[in-house]
Amino acid sequence: MELGLKGKRALVTAASRGLGRASALALAAEGACVAVAGRNPEAMASLVEELRAAGASDVCPVRMDLTDRSSLKPGVDQAVERFGGLDIFVGNTGGPVSAPFLDVPREGWEAALNESLLPMVDLCHAVLPHMQANRWGRIIFITTVGVKIVQPNMVLSDSVRLAVVGLAKSLSIEFAHEGIMVNCLCPGPFATDRMEYLVRSSMERDGLDRKAAEALWLEEVPVGKFGNPEDFGAIVATLASERAGFITGTAIALDGGKSRAY
Ligand code: NAD
Repeated sequence: MELGLKGKRALVTAASRGLGRASALALAAEGACVAVAGRNPEAMASLVEELRAAGASDVCPVRMDLTDRSSLKPGVDQAVERFGGLDIFVGNTGGPVSAPFLDVPREGWEAALNESLLPMVDLCHAVLPHMQANRWGRIIFITTVGVKIVQPNMVLSDSVRLAVVGLAKSLSIEFAHEGIMVNCLCPGPFATDRMEYLVRSSMERDGLDRKAAEALWLEEVPVGKFGNPEDFGAIVATLASERAGFITGTAIALDGGKSRAY
């Protein structure tokens, strides 16, 4: 299937590792121009080499700390200057801390909003005018399956990401007539550093060994294994493609069946 991504111009945030990195690599493999945003210039430099090797039409490393508002629009401007526009925005973030409600002070909520919701709002302000100019765009937010099924000790992530789903739904209605499709992907347990953090949190909090902690995270996953980030990237590329011009306002679970939602 021809996805029509060759030469399309994409920005992926929080791209240095895990699902963000896999998304950037999948877009590169389809011949897109890919700007990767992250905090660590060394990690970005090595990712840029990988993206070139994967087949990207062009690449652009962007220094962006999602919690530093002053780095957001300049990061988008840098990608736009390099590519001459922007068609695709993959809004990825780090994950909020895992803890039960009573262990999370107000500052924890403010931090989660500042790293997972508000940068997505600011970045949409920055990217949408470029998509409007072409009457074509794709926005994909990476959230969590927790927006469909509540997870233990994930009150911060599940709550704040539901706000991202609300943002996506609103944008999908407002911008559909301009050819801009807005969707969320909702990962279940994928084999990334984030999953490693969650498994370790379970080991420490619940006194489990690694095998038991992993089993805890997999017990409600009918597929019975952690997801492969490459498979996640392939779905991002499909949703970002020409072929995805009639899908908007959705929140799609990639969770090995965990959510059990229709
Ligand atoms: P990860 O920990 O492997 O990677 C997170 C990335 O975010 C890293 O590149 C990190 O450097 C970057 N990052 C963190 N804070 C940042 C900041 N302030 N500015 C810029 N970059 C920042 O995580 P992942 O598994 O790839 O997860 C990606 C998203 O998907 C997260 O929001 C996570 O909560 C969510 N998610 C992941 C899983 C999973 O099983 N992996 C499950 C549900 C939801």
